[in-house]
Amino acid sequence: MSNTFKRILITGGAGFLGTHLCERLVDQGHDVICVDNFFTSQKNNILHLLPKSNFELIRHDVTHPLYLEVDEIYNLACPASPVHYQYNPIKTIKTSVLGAINVLGLAKRVNAKVFQASTSEVYGDPTVHPQPESYRGNVNPIGLRACYDEGKRCAETLFFDYHRSNGVNIRVVRIFNTYGPRMHPYDGRVVSNFIIQALAGHDITIYGDGSQTRSFCYVDDLIEGFIRMMNGPDDFVGPVNLGNAGEFTIKELAELVLELTGSKSKLVPRPLPSDDPLQRRPDNTVAKKHLGWEPTVPLREGLAKTIEYFQSIDLTKFRKPTDYAYTGQ
Ligand code: NAD
Ligand code: UDP
Repeated sequence: MSNTFKRILITGGAGFLGTHLCERLVDQGHDVICVDNFFTSQKNNILHLLPKSNFELIRHDVTHPLYLEVDEIYNLACPASPVHYQYNPIKTIKTSVLGAINVLGLAKRVNAKVFQASTSEVYGDPTVHPQPESYRGNVNPIGLRACYDEGKRCAETLFFDYHRSNGVNIRVVRIFNTYGPRMHPYDGRVVSNFIIQALAGHDITIYGDGSQTRSFCYVDDLIEGFIRMMNGPDDFVGPVNLGNAGEFTIKELAELVLELTGSKSKLVPRPLPSDDPLQRRPDNTVAKKHLGWEPTVPLREGLAKTIEYFQSIDLTKFRKPTDYAYTGQ
């Protein structure tokens, strides 16, 4: 327990990353307010926190203003999986842009420090590899991913303009693909899809030829990076990359999931979605220098823990966020 507890708002606090962050801050003794509209999550993710006296849940949509008295805000509200953020692209961009305006307005009014969960997607389909924060990206502004990528880019702009124009104390992190327990089983992202498919003995859906790469960070490592960034010096506002520098092809990931689950599922090709980035790996130099942060959990170890989680849950208790989620064959 820390001696000085803070009042901390976490938007998107019931989602995959949000629940881990809520848990960590509640354990530290802070007064945590979780705000979520439950688009890509559900209450059972945070049931264990509800009885705690320093945890509070508000069902609210961040596209509408919110008036609270808080010391810190972590802004995580936004669907993160391509299948779900493309379901209602206009809502997705409103969530990023109006959500940012609303949390920044709140931060300005109550003089709170405010943290933005940005993304490696601001780099689009990168032509510089690995990606340093100085790279300005290669985003198609009219493509299927633009609602998410451009929404997050605009949110970063708003954060820096509120900082420069109004002196709002900001922190901006760019998160690279993160996985772990409490990902929604119908999240639609590659790690949860492959594990669910392997455990059920269903085909593993490889989009394209599986040669595209991603770098996978275990959730505990990422949350440590969040906390260090929020608590770091006020003259380091970011943006900072947070991700694991180990780079794998999607086919390699599928093979590792098959090995760890002992599954006999087959890898089957599916069409590659448009604008799917061919490669992605963080340059972590800035995070190391300013936060002393480096991931510690190798993919094999993190996947084993994630598989254990998916083996332990009852899939009938989970609602599919949209019709586009993987639903079995
Ligand atoms: P998630 O989908 O599990 O969580 C997002 C949460 O936000 C959900 O609980 C959802 O219900 C909520 N939400 C969505 N729209 C909302 C709205 N309008 N009002 C209130 N709540 C809303 O995703 P996650 O992986 O936990 O991602 C959290 C944040 O981190 C997102 O902003 C995402 O863009 C960012 N991020 C995540 C990753 C990753 O690999 N997990 C990578 C890059 C960026
Ligand atoms: N992918 C795949 N099969 C799936 C889900 C995803 O081959 O069932 C691929 C997807 O095309 C992308 C990568 O895995 O190249 C990562 O996808 P994800 O949706 O997890 O996140 P992204 O990094 O693309 O936002």
